[in-house]
Amino acid sequence: MADARFPNILTVDVEDWFHILEVEGGYTRADWDGLEERVVRNTDRLLALFDEAGVRATFFVVGWVARRQPDLVRRIAAGGHELGSHSYWHEVLPRHDRGSLAADLAASKALLEDLSGGEVTGFRAPGGSITPAQAWAFDVMIDAGYRYDSSLCPGYSSHGGFPSPFLGPHRLRCERGHLDEVPSATIGLGGRRVPYAGGGYLRLFPYLVQKAATRLENRSGRPSNVYVHPREIDPGQPRMALPALRRFKYYVGLDSTEAKVRRLLRDFRWMGAREWLDAHRAEIEPCVLDVREHAATLPPHPDPALVPPAPEAA
Ligand SMILES: [Zn+2]
Repeated sequence: MADARFPNILTVDVEDWFHILEVEGGYTRADWDGLEERVVRNTDRLLALFDEAGVRATFFVVGWVARRQPDLVRRIAAGGHELGSHSYWHEVLPRHDRGSLAADLAASKALLEDLSGGEVTGFRAPGGSITPAQAWAFDVMIDAGYRYDSSLCPGYSSHGGFPSPFLGPHRLRCERGHLDEVPSATIGLGGRRVPYAGGGYLRLFPYLVQKAATRLENRSGRPSNVYVHPREIDPGQPRMALPALRRFKYYVGLDSTEAKVRRLLRDFRWMGAREWLDAHRAEIEPCVLDVREHAATLPPHPDPALVPPAPEAA
């Protein structure tokens, strides 16, 4: 056993195999209704793995999935896990304006709360797509009633990246108040910080790298922050016709991920994001990143044709 004492953060981004972001050859919202649904079986598999290990996690659920699969949301909540929002439409933040993001965040929160009967306080942006140019979104989260965000990556990120001196959970000082932040876990590689604990990185890096990075993180007093997508334990998922590099990143390591998750569950201690924050309040409160300057100087200017529609009514 590597270290059973230090608690790490385990999260799932609940979306389906076709919820890919910003790529030629990928599906768009207009296509989703006609595609094979695989998210229920894959999420149930993760729930069974977590249950077997006695672990409770945070499930950031896409609202579009929750609307179509209400029983899945109820099962997650009944298992004692935390529900968070992964937005309604699974669209990157640069394609939102303030109004569309406010509507998306309110609708996804209300939907998950109606289904579970519990309060939803956490948000994770699709693709971790927050840069200083989207710092305005933190104020939208606060206004919608969220108390923590888990979108920020203090290093390299294909859709985001937000320079920050804090590599572990901390607080954000925003115009509208404070928000707790649970950033991506990163390791130093070739002079920059790279995520290691989720998505393609979890699939790509061998287990020994995951284990060593998590131990290093814990020795520095920080939790790892693993994020897994249900499709990542589904080697049989349909393949999209993606450009070569994207295809590699999207499909590499699908048949090894479930085994890695099992080993992580066995070798380390895990909990959901909100539980971790509640247990470490005294440690994170002095670590404050002021994002007000970014939010004030860079208002959003998305192409109006890309802005997502209002979420579907109940
Ligand atoms: Zn996602």
